[in-house]
Amino acid sequence: MKKTIRDFELENKKVIIRCDFNVPIDNGLILDDNRIRSSLETINYAIEKGSKVILMSHLGRVKTVDDKVKNSLEPVSKRLSELLGKEVKFIKDTRGPVLEEAILKMNSGDVILVENTRYEDLDSKKESNNDLELGKYWASLGDIFINDAFGTSHRNHASNVGIASNLPSGIGFLIEKELKNIKSTIDEPKRPFAVILGGSKVSDKIGVINNLVNIADYILIGGGMSYTFLKAKGNPIGKSLLDNDSLEFCSDILSKYNEKIILPVDVVCSSEISEESISRETDINDISENEMGLDIGVKTIENFETILKKCKTVIWNGPVGVFEIDKFSNGTRKIAEILSKIDATTIIGGGDTASAVINFGYKDSFTHISTGGGATLVMLEGSSMPGIDVIKDLNYEK
Ligand code: ADP
Ligand code: MG
Repeated sequence: MKKTIRDFELENKKVIIRCDFNVPIDNGLILDDNRIRSSLETINYAIEKGSKVILMSHLGRVKTVDDKVKNSLEPVSKRLSELLGKEVKFIKDTRGPVLEEAILKMNSGDVILVENTRYEDLDSKKESNNDLELGKYWASLGDIFINDAFGTSHRNHASNVGIASNLPSGIGFLIEKELKNIKSTIDEPKRPFAVILGGSKVSDKIGVINNLVNIADYILIGGGMSYTFLKAKGNPIGKSLLDNDSLEFCSDILSKYNEKIILPVDVVCSSEISEESISRETDINDISENEMGLDIGVKTIENFETILKKCKTVIWNGPVGVFEIDKFSNGTRKIAEILSKIDATTIIGGGDTASAVINFGYKDSFTHISTGGGATLVMLEGSSMPGIDVIKDLNYEK
């Protein structure tokens, strides 16, 4: 078990919390504040325990001086201040005397937010390359480091791994929740255990398939990625999404795990992707040359439902159709509805899958909706997560 924020004496300590405030911002307007909300539990805990709270986060990529303007964290400090109901002092720098003096002046319970850590990337990518001096410098500003930025925990950056290597460190409540829900589920799933995979590209998810195909009892495949599997089986797929480079991988996996892998048997197809397009539902063998498969059909939904109803654990990553368009959203909606009703541990991962189920009104219907995009996939792959691995276990002795 990892050390958590609960395992530290926080009163009057300068506590650096690495959050994930990487939210979509357009012209200073925050379009979705879910990531800010997910960080509140840890920040509020530190405030209540009387810490001097120093918050850090990245926002987007910073490659040119122009990127600095559009990727400033200032709008986040305002939103955060509203959500916390207290002042969040925004520091326009990532280092130097203004930041250092502001920290010196802090009282117990005060909160400051440091400017986007990736401003440091303008100078030889110091943040993203985990420049050792930068990690050491940031660590020198605090007494304790808490990593709660799940979304970047698969990265080896100065603001997570760098600081953690130089300070007593723990994880926050958000990372704890992700570990508890995703990692523990994969390590010891209640069975039967099904994984639903969809989305656009097979290549994005090869690592996930390779790991989970060994653990799960069923792999249900839908969405854009299913057509590469179908093509590998010899089915006609017309103009459906095809990931040519993954054809061999799909054949291999299908021949090794033929019984576990369940593919669509019918499809909603059309010659164009638009709300006005004329679509038809047909057998999976019946896609014509100029058509694309854009959603799973009713029989496939029924097949999936029969399996899912038997399961005690379900992990779902990747929409099973072009859910952004109403016409092709039925499969994704139905899967969300089925999962909301079964008596099982249900975990949703992936940026688009999460936003689909939330938009369809299923925000509170599952055991867990992961907040990470790429980070969730890395965890599902069972690969190492530097930002979490760097935190010592609770019983670790130096
Ligand atoms: P996540 O972010 O949840 O991991 P992905 O990014 O892999 O999911 O995939 C999401 C995208 O896949 C969506 O934009 C959706 O429109 C697309 N998609 C799903 N099914 C199809 C399909 N049959 N054809 C083309 N695109 C699809
Ligand atoms: Mg996506």
